Amino acid sequence: MTEKSLTELSSCVKSSVKENLDKIFSHAKPKGVTVMAATKTVPPEIINYAITECGLKNIGENRVQELLEKYDRLFLDEVNLHFIGTLQPNKVKYIVGKVCLIHSLDSIKLASEISKRSLAKEIVTDVLCEVNIGNEAAKGGISEEAAEEFIKTASEFEGIRIRGIMVIGPHCENKEDYRPFFERTKSLFDNLSSKGLFGEKPILSMGMSDNYDLAIEYGATIVRPGSAIFGNRV
Ligand SMILES: *Cc1c(COP(=O)(O)O)cnc(C)c1O
Repeated sequence: MTEKSLTELSSCVKSSVKENLDKIFSHAKPKGVTVMAATKTVPPEIINYAITECGLKNIGENRVQELLEKYDRLFLDEVNLHFIGTLQPNKVKYIVGKVCLIHSLDSIKLASEISKRSLAKEIVTDVLCEVNIGNEAAKGGISEEAAEEFIKTASEFEGIRIRGIMVIGPHCENKEDYRPFFERTKSLFDNLSSKGLFGEKPILSMGMSDNYDLAIEYGATIVRPGSAIFGNRV
């Protein structure tokens, strides 16, 4: 591809990113919901455009390797960086201190490692407990039934603060089919919050490209759209 056509392609991508984000903000902002863009596979140039020109304030990566590759090229002074993917305990050391919130706490071993690495840096790391709300064998996360006990145990580690829960949930062809999952997640979240497990301002991270508006209806405080902003991943 010639340089000119690359530039044209890039400006075309950018204008649709702005349009897409404006639409998502129009759902989220009136309700005070945080829009965290899932930026896996998206080049830093496009992410930085969304930050500087479209008002994007939160981004999330789901692979440690990719996060580290992009890290120095992102305009991080103006954005909060989240970690949203499955996290191996041996990779924790690379991201503690770099991310504002880890959405995917799913084992005591991981809690222990985040604790250790945070204490070494004299910081407290905010985390969410990932709950496997659909009880899907292929997905990570703590079962709905075990969540309360898990959160109580993990909360005993110093250097981490459990702020709420994150769910990915099953993929449904029909949007209406997400409702029962969101409803169950919201009632679990309310129940755990009311017991004071998450401190002040509990966080419910729920909703992706095909259902973020529905998730907002069910009380999500953070939504995580990716392809609805940047287009389908190749
Ligand atoms: C990729 C990803 C998203 C965004 O998915 P889309 O379908 O592109 O909106 C949200 N959350 C997590 C954990 C992801 O890995």
